[in-house]
Amino acid sequence: TLILGIESSCDDTSAAVIRDGLLLSNVIASQKVHEEYGGVVPELASRAHQQNIVPVVDTALRRAGVDVSDLSAIAFTRGPGLLGSLLVGTSFAKGLSLGTGVPLVDVNHLHGHILSHFIRQEPGDEVPEFPYLCLLVSGGNSQIVLVESPEKMQLLGQTIDDAAGEAFDKCAKVMGLPYPGGPHIDRLAAEGDAQRFKFSKPHIPGLDYSFSGLKTSFLYTLRDNLRADADFVEKNKAHLAASLQRTIIEILLDKLDKAARQTGVRTIAIGGGVSANSGVRQAVAEYCQARGIKAFIPQRAFTTDNAAMVAIAGMFRFQAGHTCPVDAAPFARVTI
Ligand code: ATP
Ligand code: FE
Repeated sequence: TLILGIESSCDDTSAAVIRDGLLLSNVIASQKVHEEYGGVVPELASRAHQQNIVPVVDTALRRAGVDVSDLSAIAFTRGPGLLGSLLVGTSFAKGLSLGTGVPLVDVNHLHGHILSHFIRQEPGDEVPEFPYLCLLVSGGNSQIVLVESPEKMQLLGQTIDDAAGEAFDKCAKVMGLPYPGGPHIDRLAAEGDAQRFKFSKPHIPGLDYSFSGLKTSFLYTLRDNLRADADFVEKNKAHLAASLQRTIIEILLDKLDKAARQTGVRTIAIGGGVSANSGVRQAVAEYCQARGIKAFIPQRAFTTDNAAMVAIAGMFRFQAGHTCPVDAAPFARVTI
């Protein structure tokens, strides 16, 4: 099965080719235009996708050494994401399918993150066994998913307000760090004292998450200390970053632990942009190691948005017999 994946849900234009689960190419064009606005500007994102999509797909096919006519299917992200961004990838995929007769497969972006562990770079690469728990932590989502098969996923818990990535980005923003702030917090945290500051943690039942209280608590800490010392943030940025990161990790691990106990599932995978975070990766690896649970920590290239994960999720769908009509509209909001 030879699959071309196309991803354009947010601000990364990406195309990838996968043959029987083995990655042949994965090209990502990240958009720099949003940096100066402190967040993704939807209209600029769709314009940049339009400029990027042809060269990105072309490069992915060329690097993989395949011709469009060789493809079994063209997989594209149908949602969730920014509608204008999704339209570019969706329309391009449809055009390519109409022009070549290669069938289309629509992919849920979140399934891509969750199934990214099945991307093999070498034939011997280990992949998860079902069922596994996936902690999906990204810019738009924070959820725990029970993955019973590529087709059967159960949402066990999710954030009732902000995503973990938003908590990273918004707190980074009030510290004056560039967008997206997650990677900057990660870098600063390595040099800080994670116990220096205490921020509030949510008390909500079940397996749901909440990050808005933490964000407010972080903001108030800055505000209160800045009154006494105008250089507070500058002097303490590493400690603030380390303390914030520790708190986010504690919140994430608390519910992940609950989910592991409740389900008895012995394999845990993490995915989404926040799973690129060094602290999150280390904490999950240590948690699993201490309990004899098998951990799948993705390569950083497959944590943030990429088309390889869309191709792999598309491969599963195609093999299960799904194709998609050319009049399928993208969805801004869908759950798993
Ligand atoms: P979704 O997948 O929910 O639709 P998205 O596609 O916008 O959202 P991703 O690209 O998966 O999100 O992840 C982006 C998020 O990951 C941003 O919030 C970013 O700050 C965060 N992130 C990336 N690297 C790191 C890191 N090293 N530490 C913390 N956060 C990080
Ligand atoms: Fe994503």
